Amino acid sequence: MTSTTAVRDHLLDVRPGDRWLVAVAHPDDEAFGCGSVIARAAALGAEVTVACATRGEAGELRPGLPDPGDLGAVREAELHRAAARLGAGRVELLGYRDSAFAGDLAAGALCAADVPEVAAVLRGLVEDVRPDVVVVLDGSDGHRDHLHVRAAARAALRELAEPRPLLVEHCLPNALMRRWLDEMRALRPGTAHLDLDPASLGRPDGEITDVLDVSGVLDRREAAIAEHRSQTSPFEGLGAELRAAFLATDHLARVGLH
Ligand SMILES: [Zn+2]
Repeated sequence: MTSTTAVRDHLLDVRPGDRWLVAVAHPDDEAFGCGSVIARAAALGAEVTVACATRGEAGELRPGLPDPGDLGAVREAELHRAAARLGAGRVELLGYRDSAFAGDLAAGALCAADVPEVAAVLRGLVEDVRPDVVVVLDGSDGHRDHLHVRAAARAALRELAEPRPLLVEHCLPNALMRRWLDEMRALRPGTAHLDLDPASLGRPDGEITDVLDVSGVLDRREAAIAEHRSQTSPFEGLGAELRAAFLATDHLARVGLH
């Protein structure tokens, strides 16, 4: 064979039997964050594994709910149900504690482990799953756990021999976040949203490499979001148009591992 064999683009051309690994920090990141990425890949026949670093113990309980006692256990169960809704066949908990958005780090917290340590854990999973595509959140919402998983995934894949899986970050583009800020300011004037600098929100639009229409899996995404009953969805209260802009379109950035 002397013909040039084009390398298949595993993000755009998903086929049955492809393997995807989605690494997130907390239960609900897989649904609120990148649920449509999972649902789309699964609907096209990929085997999707969700790796969740923590049980989300530091999450904020939805107002009005009674104290569930062990919030981590509740959220772990929500994760399993949501992943099933999205079509992910396997869920792995990595055993760290939720670092919370800020404050001192408890023993065992994800951000108390250095990036190489978390990378080694992820690399073990990558060697087991042998994914074609690895997906993480880009962390542009500023949560330190999200940024930690992102950094660990980059470090884990960088050390692998070629051919490496394609690493893709799920992004919240700045233009969309500006629309969100405008709507929040109109809906809830006098809140902390007023302090936000629009220029600092989300991912610079120029860094987005792929915009995918995922409206076909919106029902699955909504069903997965609804499974996280202990949490308030970030899309709650948004107008229909903006909600659709968040949920029916994926903004992704391919990561070069040089
Ligand atoms: Zn999270």
